[in-house]
Amino acid sequence: MYYIVVLPFASQKRYISTLISSIAKQENIECEVVQEKDQILIVFDASYELIDRFLLTLEQNLPASIYLGKSSYYTSQTKIKSKDGYLDYKIPVNIAPCTYCQKEMFDVSSRYYYYPFTSCNHCGTQTPFMSGYPFVRANSFMKFMVPCKECQNEQKINVRRNDYVLSSCVECGIPLKMKDAKNERIANDKGTYRKLFEISAKALSNRKEILAKTPNGYRLFMHALQVASIENPIVMIANANAIDTHFMLIQEEFYALLSIERPLIRLATKSDEAKSQFGSSAWVKYPDEGISMLLAKEVMSLGIDYLVYADVDSDKKAEFVIDFDIPVLPQIDSTLFINQDTKKIISGERLTFPAIDMLGDDRIIIAHNLASVIVDGVRIIDSIERFEVADTTKIFQLEDEDFDSKHSNVNYFTQWKASSLSVLAENDKLSSKAVGVYFDEKGLQFLYYNAKEVINAIPSREFSHEGMFDRIANLRDGSDRLVSNYTLRFPERIAEIENANNKLDAFAILAILMGLKNKSLDGVAAQALSFLGKGGIQIDTHIKDNRFDYDALLASIMSYQLADVESSLLCYSLYESFGDYIGEIIKQLTEKTKTSVVFICGEAIANQILFGRIKRNLAQKEIISNINYPMGRENALHGALYL
Ligand SMILES: [Zn+2]
Ligand SMILES: [Zn+2]
Repeated sequence: MYYIVVLPFASQKRYISTLISSIAKQENIECEVVQEKDQILIVFDASYELIDRFLLTLEQNLPASIYLGKSSYYTSQTKIKSKDGYLDYKIPVNIAPCTYCQKEMFDVSSRYYYYPFTSCNHCGTQTPFMSGYPFVRANSFMKFMVPCKECQNEQKINVRRNDYVLSSCVECGIPLKMKDAKNERIANDKGTYRKLFEISAKALSNRKEILAKTPNGYRLFMHALQVASIENPIVMIANANAIDTHFMLIQEEFYALLSIERPLIRLATKSDEAKSQFGSSAWVKYPDEGISMLLAKEVMSLGIDYLVYADVDSDKKAEFVIDFDIPVLPQIDSTLFINQDTKKIISGERLTFPAIDMLGDDRIIIAHNLASVIVDGVRIIDSIERFEVADTTKIFQLEDEDFDSKHSNVNYFTQWKASSLSVLAENDKLSSKAVGVYFDEKGLQFLYYNAKEVINAIPSREFSHEGMFDRIANLRDGSDRLVSNYTLRFPERIAEIENANNKLDAFAILAILMGLKNKSLDGVAAQALSFLGKGGIQIDTHIKDNRFDYDALLASIMSYQLADVESSLLCYSLYESFGDYIGEIIKQLTEKTKTSVVFICGEAIANQILFGRIKRNLAQKEIISNINYPMGRENALHGALYL
């Protein structure tokens, strides 16, 4: 009789299942860990007493993960065995340290005490230290660092660090340097690492800025009260117990913030303090790598609940600089969207890539500075910089991508086509008919998939801000008065639009017309999130030939602004209107094409209000979206395999 514990796990990533295997070996219990498409099975052949004890250890030590669901169990007469597959090919991860590594970082008797690069086979910032494939030390920026005796010994006897590629500790690892106007100090043993973070925390609490090189890029850290001095601030929580004092969040968001993945999540502000610093909402995260973690730990002991930081260039000036000598290849951080029980990665690289994909033919896919290439007989998607020149008969490249391969056979593809195919492939719907939308800051596309290819059913209307106010003035009777009244009241907004040097997208214009600080899709989405009322107001989305009339929409927004309607209510209503429009058109398309499969993708879809509205309006349909890949643009690297 086998006792089987089922852990729903909505990802192909292996770090949780391999950690469970390691813990089992550590605890000396017989079990097999089997990872299937959407779950991890732990198959025990042991006494109930042993199983109980092991499950308790697991409960205490298995980190929270955004992919993990609620566990269950059953018994079976037949043994379930794992099949070796291409997904078991070893690739690096970029997540927070696991529970065991974290314990070591705060244990003064450990060689990892205050060592910011502490990691093991199942955790830590590995990817930024890698320069290529396969995942071996010779392909890492640590190749010239020789592990100390103890580290070498651990590679043999510590199950969590068996043959670990990036072994390093305070004895043999990467020294940190800290500079200010007067001094330079080096951290290269337990005492000096700790001292460096203590001094840094003091500096932060005294309102000094710190530029820190981290594996995830250069971060300019500062006290939250100095937030006004940076653009696109990110809140880094130091005290987990204080999150809900300052921000509004549901339990799923709390668990996701503290998960080993440590994603960026947009939260509405709650305390007066947070409101005055960030406005209605902010991108928030719990520290995702060692340097940020140790800084956060030290500022917390000084009574600070959270810091802010900005991603900056290496030459940014700051009073204090934390640095180290080996190069890193940082990744773009991943943003997460949560709607009730749905968790989706919106965009970014850190949590998704490198990814292993199906082999397919020998094509190389290039988009968003990422590439999908066959290495070692395995298809890997990762940053272009981590690949060497590879042979291929054809290249598939995103149109507009700035990359010159000089290859004779380059096929250019559109974002919406590849993104749609990615959703369909991930949900095993490539042989069904389907309709769907791709929605980003550039526009809204309605798409039809005829079980062979994706066709743009209703292309989005090309939007231009040039001559926009003339068009609006001629929209209907009285529109000219609307434009002149708005111009009198908000001359600076009109000037900002008319004098724009670059092409403004529709969301940027909406944000400017409403006087938002963040003039982008993100700004409009953030403002919508801060609306606490119940229902929205009617926004004119006059539809011509089934296409959104942006001019009518903008006119509607202008008149509400003249009537002093709150921008949060306006943004909220805007998303409701988008949701209703999408619902309406998709209903028509599903009837016409006789399908009930609806796919949704694109960064703009990842919005609470819009997502909820679409689900409500299309309750009878089967709505599918990405599983392993981001909903936004990066899913194209996967989808283009099916072009
Ligand atoms: Zn670990
Ligand atoms: Zn060592």
